[in-house]
Amino acid sequence: MTKIAFIGLGNMGGGMAANLAKAGYAVRAFDLSADALDRAVEAGCERAASAAEAITGADVVVTMLPAGKHVAAVYEADVFPNAAPGTLLLDCSTIDVATAKSNAEAATAKGFVAVDAPVSGGIAAANAGTLTFMVGGTDEGFERGQPVLAKMGKAVIHAGESGAGQAAKICNNMLLGATMVATCESFLLAEKLGLDLQKYYDIASVSSGQSWSMTSYCPVPGVGPESPADRDYKGGFAAPLMLKDLRLAMEAAGSVDAHVPMGARAAALYEAFVAGYPEGHDFSGIIRALDKLA
Ligand code: NAD
Repeated sequence: MTKIAFIGLGNMGGGMAANLAKAGYAVRAFDLSADALDRAVEAGCERAASAAEAITGADVVVTMLPAGKHVAAVYEADVFPNAAPGTLLLDCSTIDVATAKSNAEAATAKGFVAVDAPVSGGIAAANAGTLTFMVGGTDEGFERGQPVLAKMGKAVIHAGESGAGQAAKICNNMLLGATMVATCESFLLAEKLGLDLQKYYDIASVSSGQSWSMTSYCPVPGVGPESPADRDYKGGFAAPLMLKDLRLAMEAAGSVDAHVPMGARAAALYEAFVAGYPEGHDFSGIIRALDKLA
């Protein structure tokens, strides 16, 4: 049986590790948080006392950690000294493109097969096993990773070479941030112009302004399918995570001299939103603050 080490059992990793265990893999799990580890064990994973213990003897190492520095640290301190040559390393965290590439280079030099495989879809998709994976790496890495990732997602797409998964993820999320802000301001303007917001939705959702932000995640309570707006902007995709992805997008754009004025504006607005509303909101909650942020 394929042995999987799963490091990082937070909001996303917890559900993902549980789905791998449910699919019949032997999952040895580790997290710095004892609560997160307890939940993973309840969901069918085996408890490891350390990352090193989880990784020793594993065929595949999955990481789902907050940022690039955490992944690089775990690779250096735990994966490289303890994983057997040829072990497949699947990093599903959202991290900067440069660190994704340097991690993969360091791993390849030590005889491992490493791919970046960030996800689209939030906690609900992680729990349901319906994530979309964007994979960067060699054909061999993709072919070996695909069956494992498929147990946690509905789509697994090979984006290109190392770092391409992270590049696709931040390009997508920069677009998402900008379309969410644009969707919010179009509803705010519609309201000020005296339109009934349900009527405006009925029109725009079947017209050329339609987007996922409008028809799957409408920021207006009571309009469109159920979304965090209907739960006082609780749950969903937290604004600080959107800000994290927009910062990564700005960093990547700077590194290749790309001109991204809409992405930059969205990043500045989310920067102000997160600073002004530290109690935490779903990213669509920016609709309640846009007037003041402007
Ligand atoms: P989280 O903070 O809930 O979980 C991260 C986990 O990593 C925590 O449980 C933490 O204890 C653990 N951790 C940190 N350093 C560790 C170490 N050295 N060893 C072992 N465990 C360690 O974060 P999350 O929401 O699960 O997000 C994980 C990644 O997925 C992030 O990169 C995030 O950007 C990305 N992501 C999140 C969402 C979302 O909706 N939450 C959606 C898509 C992608």
